[in-house]
Amino acid sequence: MLLSQNDLELFTAELDMRVLLVEDETDLGVAIKRTLKQQKYLVDWVTDGTEAWSCLENNWTQYTVVILDWMLPGLTGLELCKRLRAKGNSLPVLMLTARDRMEDRVAGLDAGADDYLVKPFGMAELLARLRALQRRFPNYQSQQLTVAGLTLDYANYKVISQNSVGEKQEFSLTNKEFQLLEYFMKHPNQIVSTEQIRNQIWELNAESGSNVVAAQVRLLRRKLTNNGCQNPIETLHGIGYRFNLTD
Ligand code: CA
Repeated sequence: MLLSQNDLELFTAELDMRVLLVEDETDLGVAIKRTLKQQKYLVDWVTDGTEAWSCLENNWTQYTVVILDWMLPGLTGLELCKRLRAKGNSLPVLMLTARDRMEDRVAGLDAGADDYLVKPFGMAELLARLRALQRRFPNYQSQQLTVAGLTLDYANYKVISQNSVGEKQEFSLTNKEFQLLEYFMKHPNQIVSTEQIRNQIWELNAESGSNVVAAQVRLLRRKLTNNGCQNPIETLHGIGYRFNLTD
């Protein structure tokens, strides 16, 4: 399967949000995931607290927000939230719960949740709460990353490149191109496999074969070279890719 340019451009609309949804009620999980995807959020959905912790413990940087149910098999949402904060992690957490007693809300907020939504709720309210979290944490992922003369501007989804004589140039990337370049820039001079890239940039269980990654790498390379950058991405056939630092 090869992604067409149209498919790729569908992702360009807004600043990307990757959501970890932790909800064990199937109907509600399906409804939330569908709603978020319609809004172009990337969604990883897990139904068990222990599984959620393994997503968060090692890969929390890929998420922008966690939607966390309180009552879960494995670890409870409250316990997950406490663990996250105990590690000094400030990832925004929106807790979902049927509990609406005052002391439960206090317990949720004390555990480090940033907001609280009582079931049942409407999808419009969920989206409004997510937008509010984005406004409250505008800097959560808005810093810049500079590697090898390339700067990623998270706030504006742009790349700023600097050539050998110090001239600066700005250009935009699609969300996928941006995520891909970010991944390469965070792993310079390392061989990264197609599977590592796919796991990092596409949703869990997404049907994205190695040719999707290859197509995306081609688009990113073209974008870089069309904007006067040297191509830093080396293809290692049958192995993966390497982002080479030139200096
Ligand atoms: Ca539940």
